[in-house]
Amino acid sequence: MSKHDFKPANNIQDLQYFGEFGGVNPSISDSSTYTFLSAKTMFDTFEGNADGCYLYSRHSTPSNLYLGEALAAMEGTETANVAASGMGAITPTILQFCQAGDHIVSSRTIYGGTYAFLKNFTPRLGIETSFVDITKLDVVEAAITPETKIIFCECVSNPLLEIADIEALAKLAKKHKLQLLVDNTFSPLSISPAKLGADVVLHSLTKFINGSSDTMGGVVCGNQELIDTLRNVNDGASMLLGASMDSLRAASILKNLRTLHIRMQQHSSNALYLAEKFESDGLRTVYPGLKSHPGHELMKRQMNPQYGFGGMLTIDVGSLDKANELMELMQERNLGYLAVSLGFYKTLFSAPGSSTSSEIPEEEQAQMGLTDGLIRFSIGLDADIERTYNSMKQCMQEVGVL
Ligand SMILES: *Cc1c(COP(=O)(O)O)cnc(C)c1O
Repeated sequence: MSKHDFKPANNIQDLQYFGEFGGVNPSISDSSTYTFLSAKTMFDTFEGNADGCYLYSRHSTPSNLYLGEALAAMEGTETANVAASGMGAITPTILQFCQAGDHIVSSRTIYGGTYAFLKNFTPRLGIETSFVDITKLDVVEAAITPETKIIFCECVSNPLLEIADIEALAKLAKKHKLQLLVDNTFSPLSISPAKLGADVVLHSLTKFINGSSDTMGGVVCGNQELIDTLRNVNDGASMLLGASMDSLRAASILKNLRTLHIRMQQHSSNALYLAEKFESDGLRTVYPGLKSHPGHELMKRQMNPQYGFGGMLTIDVGSLDKANELMELMQERNLGYLAVSLGFYKTLFSAPGSSTSSEIPEEEQAQMGLTDGLIRFSIGLDADIERTYNSMKQCMQEVGVL
């Protein structure tokens, strides 16, 4: 099967689960603990030898397994393990692969929380990270040492929207016997990293996948061996660090997942419309769907085209003061909310330098091109994007950035 025959939304559509009374949605397991008729089965279940039996909800629950299966189907991996948040999926996975003395090569433009974890937290455990420009493969390869265990990147990076060449990075990882871990939070459905050779695909479900900004969630998609290791009661990082998802949330995220394909198409077409308008108005606009984007051709090559270039775009309005003035005005006119996060039906905007990427020291922000006047937009599901554009343009003229 060529990578372009992979149909992630079909895989979600084709899953079929029924509830206890023939309900069209699976029943939610509203229990933290489970009874056993025999004490022997309880022991076997604890040791992981009694398939289909549940013991305790930090270990696994039917609802969490349904959601995990659906996400594994979406990414085309053997299986998956859901977590209470994106960080609750990312941090145990990294810790499962690395121990004291090991080394990580990471993209320097990644989510602020992941950056802080690798920069400030894992060194306490003797794990060091080199941060590199992930778009420069020679630089990535040069950073690999005999101690390196993983390469970490985001498909579409936060907040600069750089595009990682997953196929090339997977080849590099294979050559050096490393694991390629990819955070696909910004580009669900649009990019299928496992089909391009990534070993592990991570998501914050909090963003596009759930899409209603009402819950946190995360997932690790990978092979059975990895997921079993993460869940091992004796030394599994997901099991022991305890960021397990609650069943009620797993059930609600599964329901939202079913409309992800429609939402991504709308986020993408709205974002492309605005990006083209902003760019032709003369604003410094970054969007992977624009020909001016350095990763445009690469993204076209590796994407599932029907879902578009995603819902995230940035503009640079010159200074933090202007950015703040514009965001406050846009919020006042109900064009969106001044809020972090992404994937909501309303447009969300924030200045990453002073919010979601503030963990990155200022001089490093400058080096990677993260400027003060940068505004990150998560474009909403607006039914009338032309009206939105006209009102945004009005705001931009009023604050003097156009
Ligand atoms: C939000 C986000 C995370 C962290 O997820 P949480 O659900 O907030 O823990 C990780 N990576 C990316 C790219 C994100 O946007």
